[in-house]
Amino acid sequence: MYYNLTVILRLLLIIAIKVTVKMLFDNSLSDDEIIIEDGVYNIADFAQYHHPGGDIIKIFGRMDVTRHYRSIHHTHSKEYHKKVMNRFFVRKVANNDNVNFDTDFARDLKSRVVRGIPYQYANRWWYARATTYVSLWLVCMYTMVVAPSYLVAICYGVAKALMGTNIMHDASHGSISRSWFVNDLFFFLSTYPIGLNQFAWFQQHIMAHHPFTNDYDKDGDIKSGEPYLVTHPSGKIVWYHRFQAYFMEALFSFFTVLKVTSLDIVTMKLTDDFHVVTWLWNKRHLGRFMKTLYLFVNIVLPIYYHGVPVIRFYLLTTIVSSLILATIFIISHCFDGVKHHEQTNDWYRGQIATSSSYGGQIACWLTGGLNFQIEHHLFPRVNSCHYVKLHSIVVEVCRQHNIPYTYFPTIFDNFQSTITYMTKVGTGKYV
Ligand SMILES: [Zn+2]
Repeated sequence: MYYNLTVILRLLLIIAIKVTVKMLFDNSLSDDEIIIEDGVYNIADFAQYHHPGGDIIKIFGRMDVTRHYRSIHHTHSKEYHKKVMNRFFVRKVANNDNVNFDTDFARDLKSRVVRGIPYQYANRWWYARATTYVSLWLVCMYTMVVAPSYLVAICYGVAKALMGTNIMHDASHGSISRSWFVNDLFFFLSTYPIGLNQFAWFQQHIMAHHPFTNDYDKDGDIKSGEPYLVTHPSGKIVWYHRFQAYFMEALFSFFTVLKVTSLDIVTMKLTDDFHVVTWLWNKRHLGRFMKTLYLFVNIVLPIYYHGVPVIRFYLLTTIVSSLILATIFIISHCFDGVKHHEQTNDWYRGQIATSSSYGGQIACWLTGGLNFQIEHHLFPRVNSCHYVKLHSIVVEVCRQHNIPYTYFPTIFDNFQSTITYMTKVGTGKYV
């Protein structure tokens, strides 16, 4: 009898220890759970409370979103975050990401930005810019169907690039409005008309590129050109890469075609790093329908009216939009002197070291603020209409803290630096 009781007590003790360890350190998550620092939280409840009208946040299910959460909510202190998230808390978990958002520099920078830009969302000038570019896109799309020409094809390509950089990009970061319904609406309306899939973009840009900028293993952007182009010193270099600076623009012309024809509507994921949560999987029908609609308007309809030769105009459109988008994307993270993500765990210093900025207000209107890449990476939830002011604050705080900041007077200077970088990487001389 005494023996049986001892065995039962031992078993109960083992079960209690196992349950406690599981509660404290279990990293296996369900679709409705996310990790922020050392806690697991319920994202379904959080979405209902925090994102009324826009539930794209559920795409983060099963992920450690510490970097996403802290970088987007720059106005939240660590204490405030705990207070807000407390009601969605599920259990404790081991903190596997030691990235630091609370250095002296970070606190100084964040407080100066909060004071300098009290309202971080779109102002009327942003809406004026968006209306202009949408109008240009609508006119070009219509003219391409009724009276296609090389000139209209070029304008259509420019309009698509402007829509992508000026509307889709801000919308995907939730920086247009406090309302997620408004952000999601703009995101939807600006992504599919240019042939992209909003969820694939979200995975690639918001979930991977921003939190892990220039990290060879986690940022898909930095190795998206492989094996034809090598844009990171860790890439596999072969003989033709020594000439890559000379032929990279030719390859960039395929950028849009590759995106439009990618299988994202089938797989709903770009890399194996992402779990496809049920919420995302259920969106694949929407992706398929919108891509079919895009191909109908941009291929079937023109051929019906003008015959097969009309395709040459649409090819020119994709080349123009590809050259603009791919060039703008690459120069901001591939330039002579750029650092790579894994070299620092200081979030704000890391974002500055992995990006460059160029130009001023005009470049900002034309690139949707992507010219101020450093500012964008530091404060992705701040709308591009504030970037000129944000730039002056960031430059000033960096100067006070002796932090190197890479600025080029024009896009051409930045591009020249990219040529140097690509040559060095292609010959294995970039360290
Ligand atoms: Zn971005």
